[in-house]
Amino acid sequence: MSDVAKDLRTRLNALRKRVESAALGCNRATDEITLIAISKTHPTETLRAAIDLGIADLGENRVQEADAKITELGRKAARWHLVGHLQENKARRAVGLFDIIHSLDSISLAQRLERLCVSEGRDELPVLVQINLGGEERKTGTDPTELKPLLDAVAECRRLRLIGLMTLPPYSENAEDGRPFFKTLRELRDQLQSEGRFGGVSGELSMGMSHDFEVAIEEGATMIRVGTAIFGERS
Ligand SMILES: *Cc1c(COP(=O)(O)O)cnc(C)c1O
Repeated sequence: MSDVAKDLRTRLNALRKRVESAALGCNRATDEITLIAISKTHPTETLRAAIDLGIADLGENRVQEADAKITELGRKAARWHLVGHLQENKARRAVGLFDIIHSLDSISLAQRLERLCVSEGRDELPVLVQINLGGEERKTGTDPTELKPLLDAVAECRRLRLIGLMTLPPYSENAEDGRPFFKTLRELRDQLQSEGRFGGVSGELSMGMSHDFEVAIEEGATMIRVGTAIFGERS
């Protein structure tokens, strides 16, 4: 085993223990929490080592970078998640590359993805709507006040399947600062779920990163997006 793989195994084992104890601490089953390993900036060999260690879900934030890695490793090597903002001119490639898109944030992007699914022959594209709960101007994600029209538009798109909500709170060193955002996202999910917005199944909550996933799990996260705690610091 290479040094990269050994380091990865050590960090991954430690992370899995933390996920388990966070879940246990709030009476949740570990298997209802999907770990998405966020591999942006890391080379393809590192992703391959992660897959060998049992990672089934990999997340990238840029289409172009993901394209090279997914092409090399194979479309079926993992479940591929797009977690970064999707520019409309990259949408066609994204439809071909990713299993799940976490960053749907506008009506025009939804409509474009729908048209591209038709032209690319893709029957179903699972999406999460990204909500900007921090009100930060530079952040991507839809404003909560624009959520309903966006959801109505997504419902009109027959090939898009809304599976949940995603958020990225304003960065803070203190993990507890994320809690109110995670709680708000969960409440929104519960409300939309009761309206049947997720097709009668429960909606996913994509929230929590290396520094705050434990808090996110306590608040109901079903998909955590963890980069640094698995792969080490990004250069
Ligand atoms: C980079 C990234 C993550 C992972 O961040 P870490 O702090 O390295 O765990 C999660 N979500 C998104 C959207 C990201 O861009």
